[in-house]
Amino acid sequence: MAKQNKDSRCSFCHSSKQDSLMLIEGLDAFICDKCVVQANDLLIQNLDVRKSNSVEGPLTLLKPREIKAHIDQYVIGQNDAKKVLSVAVYNHYKRLNQKVEDDEIEIEKSNIMLVGETGTGKTLLAKTIAKILNVPFCIVDATVLTEAGYVGEDVESILSRLLQAANYDVSAAERGIVYIDEVDKVARKSDNPSITRDVSGEGVQQALLKILEGTVVNVPPQGGRKHPDQKMIAVNTNNILFICGGAFDGIERKIANRLRTQTVGYKVKRNEVEIDAKNLYKYITPQDLKAFGLIPELIGRIPVLTYLEPLDKSALRNILTEPKNSLIKQYQKLFAIEGIDLVFEDEVLDFIVDKAMEYKLGARGLRSICESIMLDAMFEMPSEKEKNLNITLEYATEKFEKVDINKLQAA
Ligand code: ADP
Repeated sequence: MAKQNKDSRCSFCHSSKQDSLMLIEGLDAFICDKCVVQANDLLIQNLDVRKSNSVEGPLTLLKPREIKAHIDQYVIGQNDAKKVLSVAVYNHYKRLNQKVEDDEIEIEKSNIMLVGETGTGKTLLAKTIAKILNVPFCIVDATVLTEAGYVGEDVESILSRLLQAANYDVSAAERGIVYIDEVDKVARKSDNPSITRDVSGEGVQQALLKILEGTVVNVPPQGGRKHPDQKMIAVNTNNILFICGGAFDGIERKIANRLRTQTVGYKVKRNEVEIDAKNLYKYITPQDLKAFGLIPELIGRIPVLTYLEPLDKSALRNILTEPKNSLIKQYQKLFAIEGIDLVFEDEVLDFIVDKAMEYKLGARGLRSICESIMLDAMFEMPSEKEKNLNITLEYATEKFEKVDINKLQAA
């Protein structure tokens, strides 16, 4: 090992010990912090070449029923969406594993659109599927995207994220899953072409078309703007599965108009078929997306359309306890690490759900309510000898009454 003294210099750039934050010793050489960072960048940029040459076997395919059974462990309800997703994902990866044959029947890509109120599990569904399939996954927010050349992120940045998630393994990224959240926010602002350009709306939709369908895109590895001397990584999006999600606020009215019914909370009869006016999302068609402001070309490239139901009381109650990593199980684990046995009385669970409904906090609010009830206990218990903690309704109510509801709503 080389010994450092005040005259030691970086063996790569010859910076002195004084000029660098740190000089790392090797067997008979030194390297400074700046050279480490540079070497790391070089490594990342060149890694893709080696990775894309590596041979990867076909993905192990789970059958649609197995995929759904896996999702069931994490996501409550939403059976229609789960079924549609399982089939779409199965077909997508079947297409990927398919050998090139001469029969010229090419299975097309099955990008997916999930429509449903916020907090009903759209992101969770996409995330869970990626986990089951063990493919790279990233979430991007459509609201930050703008047409190339404008302030905001280029659409290519979506692929930079996926590359990062795949640890710059290009071939893995090329069969990953991208979840594009809030896709409803890039809807065309109005039907009339205006003088000012719609750079964050239709412009983005146009830009998305190419990558959704399948093309080779040059991606800046670190994201951000392209600049001339940056090394690009070529990513083929042909086998990347895009799942788009959005709340499409107000689309119920458009659906209702189409169904010639009104969004009032009771059931109406139409052509002998009962329409569930509380959940109009379930009647959604591509036509409604077009009426909302998505361009037909984009709708055409997302052929699988499904919906998520609003969560009712019993769904929220199940979300608290049923999923494999449910909130309650997480708290119990946190306390178990400390040897503390944590029990929630049933009434407490009902109370949490009631408050989430009362303040319209949805599934996301469950966590902030639990947190407000559990904070004091999490603060005190680790220093106490007591190894049993029973959360009663009285205790929960007392803690909850002390919190600022507005803070919960912001959560
Ligand atoms: P969305 O993408 O529809 O806005 P999310 O998937 O981000 O909603 O859901 C927010 C949180 O609420 C999730 O992290 C999860 O804890 C919980 N959640 C929502 N819906 C469900 C569900 N159907 N099953 C289990 N948990 C859910």
